[in-house]
Amino acid sequence: MEGVALITGGGSGIGAATAKAFIAKGVKSIALVDIKQDTLDVTAKSLQEQSDAGVVILTIQCDVTDENQVKEAIQKTTEKFGRIDYAVNSAGITNKSKVGEYQTGDWDRVINVNQKGVFFCMREELSQMEKQDYLPCKSADKRRAQRGSIVNVCSINSFVAARRNAAYVTSKHAIVGLTKTCALDYAAQGIRCNGVAPGYVETPITLAPENIEVLRKSTQPEKTPQGRPAIPEEIADVIVFLSSQGASYVNGAVWEIDGGFLCL
Ligand code: NAD
Repeated sequence: MEGVALITGGGSGIGAATAKAFIAKGVKSIALVDIKQDTLDVTAKSLQEQSDAGVVILTIQCDVTDENQVKEAIQKTTEKFGRIDYAVNSAGITNKSKVGEYQTGDWDRVINVNQKGVFFCMREELSQMEKQDYLPCKSADKRRAQRGSIVNVCSINSFVAARRNAAYVTSKHAIVGLTKTCALDYAAQGIRCNGVAPGYVETPITLAPENIEVLRKSTQPEKTPQGRPAIPEEIADVIVFLSSQGASYVNGAVWEIDGGFLCL
């Protein structure tokens, strides 16, 4: 797979696993965007050690809730690599409260990262993708060529509620609308936009002491038919496929990757 990938939330969890999955498919230019420089450094070092020569990993510290920082992150990426073929918006946070008990600051923090932050990133990613040429197409039928692809990391909570988690659930429902609208608005320009909706995944968010009991209970077979959480690689592989030319006719879709959770 040729091209340049940019991943927000790339320092950890699903974002870091997605970078690894892109590299495994042959992508050589990766921009990792995250608010935490220390996790960026650790992830980039580990990816670099596991990669062949020629893989270039650019780390960019950026708070996705700050539109100027997002603009700069996209600029730094294009200065280094010239284009962005695959954008994955994975940066996300959560906090827990009942609807009537939310403090305004807690509500705003989640909405600003998970909803407004995804919008800020998409706006800049799209502005770059719109002005770049199509990536050379491997297929005999050139209608499969793409100028760019965006994958937003949604959630099962894009479709169903979770107790005491209203801001997260609201933000994740919202980005389904954003994803589908983007698919409509940019299809004619050769840009696809899709989402993935993971169920419970073993990452620092779900393994945190305050969340681990929820992870354990929610991945019992009566809740998650496969009876276990996903590992980040199981989400990353689908993200990379959705980004690739292999998914050239998938647009505006949000794929559930949840071990069957939403079947029940
Ligand atoms: P994670 O905490 O491992 O990764 C999230 C990354 O986002 C972190 O590196 C964090 O530093 C970064 N981040 C947070 N705020 C940011 C900001 N303002 N600007 C830039 N970066 C910021 O968690 P994860 O589980 O890999 O989560 C990735 C995405 O997957 C999130 O959007 C999350 O909602 C979604 N998701 C996770 C699960 C799960 O079970 N882990 C399930 C469904 C959806």
